[in-house]
Amino acid sequence: MKSLAWSSLFGQGAERIQASTIRELLKLTQRPGVISFAGGLPAPELFPKEEAAEATARILKEKGEVALQYGPTEGYAPLRAFVGAWLGVDPEEVLITTGSQQALDLLGKVFLDEGSPVLLEAPSYLGAIQAFRAYGPRFLTVPTEAEGPDLAALEDVLKRERPRFLYLIPSFQNPASGLMPLSKRERLLEMAMEKGLLVVEDDAYRELYFGEKRLPSLFELARGAGYEGVIYLSSFSKILAPGLRVAFAVAPKEALQKLVQAKQGVDLHTPVLNQMLVLELLKEGLPARLERVRRVYREKARAMLEALDEAMPQGVRYTRPKGGMFVWMELPEGLSAEALFQRAIAENVAFVPGGPFFAGGGGENTLRLSYATMDRERIREGVRRLARALESLLPLGTR
Ligand code: PMP
Repeated sequence: MKSLAWSSLFGQGAERIQASTIRELLKLTQRPGVISFAGGLPAPELFPKEEAAEATARILKEKGEVALQYGPTEGYAPLRAFVGAWLGVDPEEVLITTGSQQALDLLGKVFLDEGSPVLLEAPSYLGAIQAFRAYGPRFLTVPTEAEGPDLAALEDVLKRERPRFLYLIPSFQNPASGLMPLSKRERLLEMAMEKGLLVVEDDAYRELYFGEKRLPSLFELARGAGYEGVIYLSSFSKILAPGLRVAFAVAPKEALQKLVQAKQGVDLHTPVLNQMLVLELLKEGLPARLERVRRVYREKARAMLEALDEAMPQGVRYTRPKGGMFVWMELPEGLSAEALFQRAIAENVAFVPGGPFFAGGGGENTLRLSYATMDRERIREGVRRLARALESLLPLGTR
């Protein structure tokens, strides 16, 4: 076969697209026998397999012409109406996307130019960093902790810079698992309003809270305060099934229109059958389903924390998540999570080193553990293996 010099054909955009470290790592972690805390995958035992089989057959039988036809870019109208009613917004402001991942890319397309500043938490969601990076922006970051971003650092950045938007995951942050308290949400919103700053709120884990109730989103608070500068993203990936690739963005009509136009060039619309299926599944006892989802993750989180409390040596710090799927860990200064990863793989346990989650570099001694896909027994065993890997790395005397 005559070969081509592919790299000379790629555009500048392609150069900015890099293999995701996590996706590469995930390949290693799929070896048989490995207990993986690496992937951000939802718990498969929660997938509504039977309901989905029945509903799909019903949809195809009763509304096959709609399900298999092209649909509107904005999304299947009854699903937009459901989301509108669920969130208390005008369905005209709802765009159904092919996963939230697509919404992140569309936001990059619509709002970012090469070199334009965009503000993220450090660490932040790798999929967002990857999506935005393709548009060549200049990343600005503010440190984030168990209670969300450092507002003093944020204020400081906003004195010097005018980012195109601030991308935030206020609830059960990926990867750092933080939850921004209400008072902090209110203060952040005040700052955004004062500066006219656009906030992109990614609420992928909105329903995965372990406490009594959900905190109001920045989006809800903004609407209550008469501020339209929050674009809201969430997804059915964590409460139904990620393979369906159905998620939504909510934005004021002028911004939404641009996102719709951008989506037209990408995939015309999100698969209609999947949208119809999601709607059917939502109609079948959503409150009971959400209760179950929360209970399963709460129990897994507890199992992981108990195991960590028992096994982790001194000097290792980790978060105690109030929801979501992750524990975020900080090794003693100077220890490398990548080095630990090599030892851990040898012990047949895997996680994700935290470095790639920092858009501006750093975080070499951090890592993310997901408790979502393993059962309690394997969580305990995996943590024991992790502790062994860690002990082999610690200098003598601190063991
Ligand atoms: N945002 C965050 C914070 C996530 O963790 C994820 C999934 N890991 C996504 C967006 C993407 O979700 P979706 O499956 O809807 O593309």
